[in-house]
Amino acid sequence: MDHETIIIGAGVAGLGIGWQLAERGMDVAIVERDTVGSGASTAAAGMLAPVSEVEFEEDDRLELELASLEMYADFVAELEEASGVDVDYQTTGTIIVAIDRDEAEALDRIHRYHDELGLEAHGMTPDEAREREPGLSPNIRGGLFCPGDHQVDPGRLVDAMAQAFERAGGTLVEEAEVERVETEYDSVEGVELAGGERMTASKVVVAAGAWTPDIEGLPDGVLPHVRPVRGEMLECDRGDPSVVDHVVRVPQQTRPNVYLAPKSDGRIVVGATSEERGFDTTPTAGGIYELLRGAWRAVPGIYDEHLLRTWTGFRPVTLDNRPVLGPVDSIDGLWIATGHGRNGILMTPVTARAVSEAILTGSMPDVIAKFAPNEDSL
Ligand SMILES: Cc1cc2nc3c(=O)[nH]c(=O)nc-3n(C[C@H](O)[C@H](O)[C@H](O)COP(=O)(O)OP(=O)(O)OC[C@H]3O[C@@H](n4cnc5c(N)ncnc54)[C@H](O)[C@@H]3O)c2cc1C
Repeated sequence: MDHETIIIGAGVAGLGIGWQLAERGMDVAIVERDTVGSGASTAAAGMLAPVSEVEFEEDDRLELELASLEMYADFVAELEEASGVDVDYQTTGTIIVAIDRDEAEALDRIHRYHDELGLEAHGMTPDEAREREPGLSPNIRGGLFCPGDHQVDPGRLVDAMAQAFERAGGTLVEEAEVERVETEYDSVEGVELAGGERMTASKVVVAAGAWTPDIEGLPDGVLPHVRPVRGEMLECDRGDPSVVDHVVRVPQQTRPNVYLAPKSDGRIVVGATSEERGFDTTPTAGGIYELLRGAWRAVPGIYDEHLLRTWTGFRPVTLDNRPVLGPVDSIDGLWIATGHGRNGILMTPVTARAVSEAILTGSMPDVIAKFAPNEDSL
């Protein structure tokens, strides 16, 4: 056996699980088609925002997100210690603002929903909002402060997990595409790479994000139906003094759904569109226009800052918008960890800890039990 476990994909899902398994002494290899984090994970903004991004009727998902948020501070401390990399974990909270009437009504509805669910969010008058965040537009009609919604730098999170994984003895294989999962008598045997090379293992974890359905070798219906939901993003200089100090966003339920996430290294990340366009990697004029317009409406000072970069990324989204986490009953040794959609950075700690625990002990922690692969998710 080459390894005890092979993980397909070095995004936050695969790296987190791999790091936790390697820390506990398992012989693990992560096989990545490109370079670490090159999928959705480094395309993300890094918001940890279950309260400001709450969606109606997604209670199970919210429960999982809140469990993950609760783990974040410890997870970051352990990761920074293990890797020596600072992941820019910022705990200044998130401000949601309303500029027009639609947004003001959406803000009201979300706030009532927060109250119903017992989530902490404080309504603010325009003056109170501008006192907390002077960079906000004088045109805002009101705001909501979500003190528990934090952020990290996803690029650094990926680097940290890759370093921690290798320091714990894990094997990282980059620029190696898994073509198929090999099985015999309904048990996993390993994987075959695009060049024909084989790697054996008694467990294989599929964490290939939006590309999961392309993996061959398994019967129909075993891998979940994950599709890419494209997001366009851009980043600007933060300015000196910084034009904004908190994560600022408009209500999730309005379009375009724009946010600004200031990072400690002097950038402001602005996102994100949400588009069904397959794996088209080129940003559009319209998408970038909407982001810039939305960012400028909320924080006018961004107008004068340098535009540094634009990019796209592909959120791995399932049919019912829930992640799929756990073992596949019909194939011994096959595990799935994908479908985190727009909140995979937020769900990194719970995915890493709970899936690795399930692999090591053979029993599913309660927190992920509802997300096990089943007919509804496939
Ligand atoms: C624009 C944008 C903004 C986002 N913002 C946020 C945010 O603010 N907060 C948040 O919580 N989440 C955010 N997300 C969501 C988050 O980025 C994802 O949910 C998360 O990164 C998914 O991680 P993953 O490891 O499952 O997938 P990925 O990061 O896509 O990793 C999968 C990896 O598998 C590799 N792979 C695929 N097929 C194979 C194969 N056959 N062989 C070997 N390797 C393979 C890929 O190259 C890739 O590196 C955002 C996403 C996007 C696109």
